Amino acid sequence: MSTLAIRDLHVSVNTGDDGEKEILKGVDLTIESGQTHAIMGPNGSGKSTLAYSIAGHPKYTITSGTVTLDGEDVLEMSVDERARAGLFLAMQYPVEVPGVSVSNFLRTAKTALDGEAPKLRTWMKDLKSAMDDLQMDAAFAQRNVNEGFSGGEKKRHEIMQLELLKPKFAILDETDSGLDIDALRVVSEGVNRSKERTNAGFLLITHYTRILRYIKPDFVHVFVGGRIVEEGGPELSERLETEGYERFIAAASQGA
Ligand code: ADP
Ligand code: MG
Ligand code: MG
Repeated sequence: MSTLAIRDLHVSVNTGDDGEKEILKGVDLTIESGQTHAIMGPNGSGKSTLAYSIAGHPKYTITSGTVTLDGEDVLEMSVDERARAGLFLAMQYPVEVPGVSVSNFLRTAKTALDGEAPKLRTWMKDLKSAMDDLQMDAAFAQRNVNEGFSGGEKKRHEIMQLELLKPKFAILDETDSGLDIDALRVVSEGVNRSKERTNAGFLLITHYTRILRYIKPDFVHVFVGGRIVEEGGPELSERLETEGYERFIAAASQGA
């Protein structure tokens, strides 16, 4: 049983020319193993900033607050240490890795996490089983990471990482955007499998209620203006779909 705790997190971004702009304005969130939390909010509200800050992206400056994993200070860890501690971030815009195959990329990541290379026989078996789970052709493992991947293939590659790297906590930033209904189901099933097998905790950042019909969240958080402004259960996402964010945006700007 593990706990990822975010306390009163304030984060600024370096805007280049003349300084810093505060994006996160006091985020509080606690995720336990086996729980699924959904964060929903309008564009520009700071959802990706939250994900990148937890992952340790250098562009973001933590001005106050804490992030801990079982009491350990995550913010003091390097990006590698965060991964080894069990944090996983699937990017909203995954990068291409020219000349590196999916197979090598995943094996290198696994080696970095475990501190030793997995046995080749076991690894090939695990890789094949992850690809079978995702109904992917074996040839996919030999392609270069994200090079010419369709939206669906990028997401499947993310889910393969989940299955093979087995993080304690996974943050999926809009992993559902641009997916057709079949790919959405594959991704959702991948997340659900990983939940069952490893009891990982999930933070799903999304615009849409759609994915939450396949991956039942335990908690839904509405994110507006750099903070969580409302919390509820799965019914909250359905309400957002019909009512939109306007009510929350208006309330947030009144409070500001
Ligand atoms: P979301 O994921 O909810 O759409 P983001 O976290 O991507 O929101 O962005 C939150 C806010 O931070 C936006 O107003 C965005 O323009 C701003 N922002 C993010 N990165 C930068 C940057 N490098 N320079 C300036 N503003 C940024
Ligand atoms: Mg505060
Ligand atoms: Mg975003």
